[in-house]
Amino acid sequence: MSQLLEVNGISVTFDGFRAINNLSFNIGRAELRAIIGPNGAGKTTFMDIVTGKTKPDEGTVLWGEMSRNLIGMNEARIAQEGIGRKFQKPTVFEDQSVEDNLLMALRNNRRAFAVLFWKPTDADMNRVSELAAEIGLSNALGRKAGELSHGQKQWLEIGMLLAQEPKLLLVDEPAAGMTPEEREKTTDILVEAAKTRAVVVVEHDMEFVRRLNCKVTVLHEGSVLAEGSLDHVTANKQVIDVYLGR
Ligand code: ADP
Repeated sequence: MSQLLEVNGISVTFDGFRAINNLSFNIGRAELRAIIGPNGAGKTTFMDIVTGKTKPDEGTVLWGEMSRNLIGMNEARIAQEGIGRKFQKPTVFEDQSVEDNLLMALRNNRRAFAVLFWKPTDADMNRVSELAAEIGLSNALGRKAGELSHGQKQWLEIGMLLAQEPKLLLVDEPAAGMTPEEREKTTDILVEAAKTRAVVVVEHDMEFVRRLNCKVTVLHEGSVLAEGSLDHVTANKQVIDVYLGR
């Protein structure tokens, strides 16, 4: 699999504490990857580095066909490169309909000068229908986002990020606070989304990770402790010790 993202030897120190310690691993194109690890392992800091929020002390994050180094680019530039991030808490426009939320996300994907005069075309409306189908909200297009369940809001936000056609989507604990049915559907949405772009999911819930059925990277003290299938990494003695706090 050709690589989309190559993390090479990054380290980050906060007040003398190494939150990320010589971290290296790769993400392929159209790959679904789960990142797990105990609290404080460096998962959030890793996402902050990739999205340009935190600058590492050393190392490179090479991106795309041209292997451009993302380190040193600002957050807006990195978003333009095609890296989207979904935080835990959904941020949708509650007073607007599902359709309008998706349309706004499509509009925001256009160049700044075009946004002011933007009128959705038939192609845009088709794209909204496709996105709604992808996130399981085809029957809710006319509903106000504020009336949706927690899970549906999360899916809407995923749809809004997909509207921006990312090549890589970083998703932080998507299943938190969801019902079992919503979790199952979230798995389907992420698996489907990862067919045409890379999706990296940071998640604590092992059952959720099992259902994603993808390669897992275990972080511990800012480095990769183990990598492979969930069965492979959970059979690793060091991983067991870390999770049991030994
Ligand atoms: P995770 O997301 O895996 O729980 P984090 O990336 O949030 O881990 O944190 C890794 C470590 O770095 C933790 O020990 C945390 O306390 C520390 N840390 C994260 N951000 C900062 C910061 N801005 N200042 C100081 N320490 C930080």
